[in-house]
Amino acid sequence: MTEYEAVIGMEVHAELLTESKMFCGCRNAFGGEPNTRCCPVCLAMPGALPVVNRKAVEHVIRTALALNCSINASAKFDRKNYFYPDLPKGYQISQYDRPIGVNGWLDIEVGGKTTRVRIRRVHLEEDTGKLMHLPSGDSAVDYNRAGVPLMEIVTEFPPDMRSADEARAYLIALRALLTYTGASDGRMEEGSLRCEPNLSIRVKGSDTFGAKTEIKNLNSFRAVHRSIEYEIARQIEVLRRGEAVRQETRGWSDARQETFVQRSKEDEQEYRYFPEPDLPPLMIGEEWIESIRRQMPELPSSVRERLRRDYGLRAAEADWITQNPATAAYFTEASRACGLPAQVASWMMGDFARLLNASGLAIEQARVAPEQLGRLLSLIDAGRISGKMAKGFFERMFETGATPDALLAEHGDQVTDEAAIASLVDQVIAAEPDVWAAICAGDERKLTYVMGQVMKLSRGKANPQETRRLLDGRLEKER
Ligand code: ADP
Ligand code: ZN
Ligand code: MG
Repeated sequence: MTEYEAVIGMEVHAELLTESKMFCGCRNAFGGEPNTRCCPVCLAMPGALPVVNRKAVEHVIRTALALNCSINASAKFDRKNYFYPDLPKGYQISQYDRPIGVNGWLDIEVGGKTTRVRIRRVHLEEDTGKLMHLPSGDSAVDYNRAGVPLMEIVTEFPPDMRSADEARAYLIALRALLTYTGASDGRMEEGSLRCEPNLSIRVKGSDTFGAKTEIKNLNSFRAVHRSIEYEIARQIEVLRRGEAVRQETRGWSDARQETFVQRSKEDEQEYRYFPEPDLPPLMIGEEWIESIRRQMPELPSSVRERLRRDYGLRAAEADWITQNPATAAYFTEASRACGLPAQVASWMMGDFARLLNASGLAIEQARVAPEQLGRLLSLIDAGRISGKMAKGFFERMFETGATPDALLAEHGDQVTDEAAIASLVDQVIAAEPDVWAAICAGDERKLTYVMGQVMKLSRGKANPQETRRLLDGRLEKER
């Protein structure tokens, strides 16, 4: 059977973290009462003139440099014309043939193999407003987002990615980079980071390209991964049937876990780009570039290497910990507090991440300070609490901000003393003679129940390993 391969390129939009919008003084923030952050410029009143936001330009230059791009000394803005109710001007100010950054790359690592993903362009444009379809059947539009600075990052043609894993790794690495440069908060669920994979299939080893589809509306890494896997399978199936893949834009349905046609290439618009007459070319001098380069923060690729070297983290752990500066700082402080980096990583990626997800909090908003997580792990390491007790403690710490020492004072140390546990075991067996008899007769599944009873009697403090060891010994003798 013919062997196929996927060819994947990516377009990513990131809303920039600036105080004000791209071409006016309105505040740039997420959400809020609709249409409260608008002015004649971002509402496109006749005669209103745009003024370029210097901070936004700097974000794009910084990002482009971090992505190893060359900077266009004379970049310019262009009008991209189309009609849609969320676009009051009837055009979007964007960049067409002279974007700020060109010809860069970002290295990604998947399964131990490093792939260089080349970047074709990094440009600056403005976001549109937001249409809202109300339960009444009416549609409303909120222009708070209209004119928010938006950066677009497009990978090079021919594309370098070949799998859903690589596409996800690229986005994870890119999001980390954007949070380290401070360009974006990287929140896909709030739409501040939006990505559109472009995907085609060809016979493996061929040097031509098949028709591509572009997938829209993805709001999580999981959706990116799933939709790409789905689309690869769908296109291969079309080719195997002897049909041709149609060039089109497809949406992703999370509910049905499938892509669907949104619009076909036939009705793709002609945007009639032309130079923005209200703005002069964007001259980017060497000194400006150098001053941004000099103030470049440490980038995630370097932090990742440092953490792997200094703390012996595995690649996947280091990727996770360097997802943003706050997470890496938390890890470093907690590890410094207890000297147990492997445990810190495992707690952060496990229980801590789960509680953060469930509560919708960012790590810097959590009530557990890094030193407190470190202290908790030291208590486990010193044998004063069991892993099970620590889980309970951590939930209380997360919810109430209690310290591990306060919880320890309240609960007392775990019981590891053999005689003390033996006495608990005796009490449980005396109270449950039938269960114990059944266990001795061979029904060992009931041991879990007895374990549970010992735990309960000790108020969760009996050391689980020691309890299990004593029960096994006792069983050995009585059988
Ligand atoms: P469009 O104008 O349709 O948005 P672009 O030429 O801007 O397309 O390319 C968008 C992205 O799609 C780029 O990352 C590019 O490398 C990628 N791309 C272009 N052609 C293909 C193809 N045949 N298969 C997969 N990706 C492609
Ligand atoms: Zn405005
Ligand atoms: Mg496109």
